[in-house]
Amino acid sequence: MEVDPLTGLEAARLGLYVHFPYCLRRCPYCDFTIAIARSIPGARYADAVLGELQLRLAQRPAWTERPLDSIYLGGGTPSLWDPAEVGRVLQGIARALPLAVDAEISLEANPEVADTARLAGYRAAGVNRLSLGIQSFEPGVLATLGRSHSPSDAEDAFRAARAAGFENVSADLIHGVPGQSLAGAVEDARRAAALRPEHVSSYVLTVERDHLGAETVFSRRLRQGRLALPDDAAVVEMVDAVGEVLAASGLERYEISSHAVPGRHSRHNALYWTGGESLALGAGAVGFRRDGAGGLRTTNLRSTPRWLEAVEAGRLPDEERETLGPEALYEERLLLGLRLRSGVDLRRLWAEHGAVPRTTAVEALVRDGFLEPVGARFRLTGRGAHLHQEISARLV
Ligand code: SF4
Repeated sequence: MEVDPLTGLEAARLGLYVHFPYCLRRCPYCDFTIAIARSIPGARYADAVLGELQLRLAQRPAWTERPLDSIYLGGGTPSLWDPAEVGRVLQGIARALPLAVDAEISLEANPEVADTARLAGYRAAGVNRLSLGIQSFEPGVLATLGRSHSPSDAEDAFRAARAAGFENVSADLIHGVPGQSLAGAVEDARRAAALRPEHVSSYVLTVERDHLGAETVFSRRLRQGRLALPDDAAVVEMVDAVGEVLAASGLERYEISSHAVPGRHSRHNALYWTGGESLALGAGAVGFRRDGAGGLRTTNLRSTPRWLEAVEAGRLPDEERETLGPEALYEERLLLGLRLRSGVDLRRLWAEHGAVPRTTAVEALVRDGFLEPVGARFRLTGRGAHLHQEISARLV
């Protein structure tokens, strides 16, 4: 059994992802699978998620053979889901699948809709980790991102999470936003660290089309020359400076975009980075399972009405099924594994996937200061982390 040295957990674990697609409005940079709704059909959606679970288990009973190490409720805005419905979904999952005793159960919450009573409802429903979408404490940056919460809403939401009994809280920050300065990004990191979270995810803003190929407001403005993103050098400076502030507060960077106090790494995300399997439920949810030396990735119908219609008619809501051969899986495991500070056991990966050993390329990357050995593993250096995609490409 391969163990990830960073998390100390079995690398190939099983997790369950539930996608809750509803949001009150679309943020201008958002390329996620979402559905805009004023009134959220929470009970209907919960019934459909539990219905899809039964369809998936009927199709592949082997899902019940291993305990779930993590459940992740992502979105969209899962904190718009009534806590009673979240509880019903979690109970239904626990009835159908074995759950590890210490399973990590996360929910993404938007500070705009995160008061103590609501968060206490999630805690009582079994959620034990909260991921708060703070993004920034700068009013101008929040306005650019189209977020409707204020800096103090974010701090209130964090305190509400503690008051509701959450001992494991993650804060999301974003940088590389038009108009954001290095000083602003550093101040965001300082204010987030001052809240003493167990985890911070710090993402660089990427401007892409959404999953249906439609332009986001930002991608259209960028194409029209009406959006000025900070240049790469400025973003690299922000990433490094944010990492330093967080590290000084005990939040070690354990993955390109993730920082945690010891023992509080995101178990669910670590599962993706280390080649674990995930059962996925909900509109647009993406699941993965191993299949010999390769794997199978399934993407659910991205349109929420079509996903609901399929599940309610008793049909599997598949939109895409992608078979990954050993070579494709190797490339993916390499790309994701190199994100981790614990690195990748390259020799093991080559052997597992029958890949040609890229020893010469590895030696050159070590010599040039992009890669470093740690025991039998290799990881990106600080310099290498900024060129993660390019370095992965040199090893395939
Ligand atoms: S960024 Fe988050 S809150 Fe904004 S529209 Fe997308 S999923 Fe919803």
